[in-house]
Amino acid sequence: MSTLPKVAWIGLGIMGSPMSENLIKAGYSVTGFTLEQDKLDRLAAAGGTAAKSIAEAVGDADVIVTMVPASPQVEAIAYGPDGILENARSGALLIDMSSITPQTSVDLAKAAEDKGIRVLDAPVSGGEAGAIEAVLSIMVGGEQADFDAAKPLLDALGKTIVLCGPHGSGQTVKAANQLIVAVNIQACAEAVVFLEKSGVDLTAALDVLNGGLAGSTVLTRKKDNFLNRDFKPGFRIDLHHKDMGIVTDAARNVGAALPVGAVVAQLVASLRAQGDGGLDHSALLRSVERLSGAQL
Ligand code: NAD
Repeated sequence: MSTLPKVAWIGLGIMGSPMSENLIKAGYSVTGFTLEQDKLDRLAAAGGTAAKSIAEAVGDADVIVTMVPASPQVEAIAYGPDGILENARSGALLIDMSSITPQTSVDLAKAAEDKGIRVLDAPVSGGEAGAIEAVLSIMVGGEQADFDAAKPLLDALGKTIVLCGPHGSGQTVKAANQLIVAVNIQACAEAVVFLEKSGVDLTAALDVLNGGLAGSTVLTRKKDNFLNRDFKPGFRIDLHHKDMGIVTDAARNVGAALPVGAVVAQLVASLRAQGDGGLDHSALLRSVERLSGAQL
């Protein structure tokens, strides 16, 4: 009989599926719920249990992990008669790993406290590959004791796991992460178009660039997307649009200027308006190509 905490996992998408599977590999018993039947089948095939509702999934869980797209979905699964707070047992630990507004995390922690449920915000960085390889960076907001309790489980999902401060802090750090990633992708995309139009061998150029100060995890992870024009997500432009909204809004609230971030937020919004919202965020390359005269 396993002595590990019993886990409920809500949201088995691009990230949630491989992450929950890593918990199963680490010996956890995982009961999951998500909206797509094929994802539930995948969980069952990996050794987990597919639930028919949130209530069924969380009823006897010690730890509940959530990984859904944005604040409205977190609110939908947390609140109301069918939600997590009504159906989880008092004393359970809720780890929300979705990337949402810091205020939603603060409000959720307060509402959960009234039900005796502890909460951590624990958004991640590292993409689908980082999720599969269990090497995510996990930025956590909440109480030290809850972080300590969650740490062994988070160790099965990631490599760099840091308590950043009180509730909402993990989300604030994640917002900064998304700012850096978007600006970095945009710079790489501009470099790719410049290099190609200059007639330089792109593979050679990106290899040597990645060995110097211009190198980055973005370039390492997205190089093949650029080279092959492969924009299968990955991380969807729709989600990065959401995150650029979070960071520009949060920065305005604290009086921080993000001039370059604001421009890149507009480029992400424009890409989405042109129908590319379902593509990987490396598709920012398409917008630079269009601005440089390509008919895409
Ligand atoms: P996704 O769209 O692939 O998956 C989201 C899942 O949430 C879906 O399976 C859906 O069924 C489920 N869901 C939505 N509403 C639900 C509800 N009411 N009840 C139950 N399940 C529900 O998204 P993703 O790419 O896995 O991203 C999840 C979160 O992780 C987002 O906040 C995203 O910003 C963040 N993130 C994603 C990546 C990435 O590379 N994809 C990287 C880091 C962080």
